[in-house]
Amino acid sequence: MSVCIANCAPAYVRSLSPYQPGKPVSELARETGIPESEIVKLASNENPFGMSPKAKAAAVAALEDAARYPDGNAFALKAALARKYGVDMSQLVIGNGSNDVLEIATQAFLSPGASAVFAQYSFAVYPLATIARGARCIQVPARNYGHDLDAMLSAIDQTARIVFIANPNNPTGTFLPGNEIEAFIARVPQDVLVVLDEAYTEFLPVEARYGSIAWVARFPNLLVSRTLCKAYGLAGLRLGYGVAHPEVADLMNRVRQPFNASTVAQAAAVAALEDQDFVEAVAENNRRGMAQLTAAFAELGLEWIPSFGNFVTVRVGDAARVDQSLLAQGVIVRPIASYSMPEWLRVSIGLPEENARFIAALRQALA
Ligand SMILES: *Cc1c(COP(=O)(O)O)cnc(C)c1O
Repeated sequence: MSVCIANCAPAYVRSLSPYQPGKPVSELARETGIPESEIVKLASNENPFGMSPKAKAAAVAALEDAARYPDGNAFALKAALARKYGVDMSQLVIGNGSNDVLEIATQAFLSPGASAVFAQYSFAVYPLATIARGARCIQVPARNYGHDLDAMLSAIDQTARIVFIANPNNPTGTFLPGNEIEAFIARVPQDVLVVLDEAYTEFLPVEARYGSIAWVARFPNLLVSRTLCKAYGLAGLRLGYGVAHPEVADLMNRVRQPFNASTVAQAAAVAALEDQDFVEAVAENNRRGMAQLTAAFAELGLEWIPSFGNFVTVRVGDAARVDQSLLAQGVIVRPIASYSMPEWLRVSIGLPEENARFIAALRQALA
């Protein structure tokens, strides 16, 4: 009798489904024969401008030193972030993408018997990281595709140790005003960590911005998570960070990998943070692209969810069929049936000409 070691893993590990990423350009090129240069990818909320030239130069220079281990304490990057936000370096946790920051939070605070609360239609990593710890998911029905904060508060029970809030939310793009989030955090029991995931915060219009990092001084159970992978364009290098009470950050730093952020990513991040003009140009392109896409949706009679991120989610009916047609035309977007939204596609905002390619392909797919 043979025993497969894979069957001996904990049942909660075996129950996991892998994260479904956007299809890589190279894969579609292999499948269809369409040259990579003619493929438009609007599937993973990536930065259509790439990264700031200053960040790229810093990354290239850092390669010189890449045979050495990174600074595991990320001194230069933490100093830059501490200056930017007026926090102490002891409040910072650096991650291999903010995905890593979310994972580290679950490692530090969840175990079998505990649970995490999050909304329906929220980021796929929340259930993944929760289940991987043997903890339980408490999923709260959404309201208008966004977070229902009162229902989330009511869902917090004795076992809850984390509540995840993405603002703006992915995959729906919905947004809650800062004062509502702040009032929510004030009502969450102090033995529950609020993970406020602000992966898209740089895309908010000026009037919607709010200072969540300043709240950390008042709420020792708040972790604000941010990333340089979206607006700053470091998705392939991977760099995210968390800001929390020093004791929370200390705990998280004990369980993270000692060298989780590479030398190249750290150097690029320091330079990227200094180039705010780049980020503003990215946000401005995003506003125009959002208007371009939503005008086309209106003309095509399609419903969409008003979005505060660098993507927009649109109802196309049989999304699997429309997606196939888009792929055949060399356009990659993200079907979100895995989020129980089988009629919808999530489309990242690209350069004006990429958006136009998508619109033309969508028109063709719907014809
Ligand atoms: C993209 C995303 C992240 C993480 O991205 P990283 O590339 O790991 O920084 C986190 N949360 C949400 C809601 C996202 O959409």
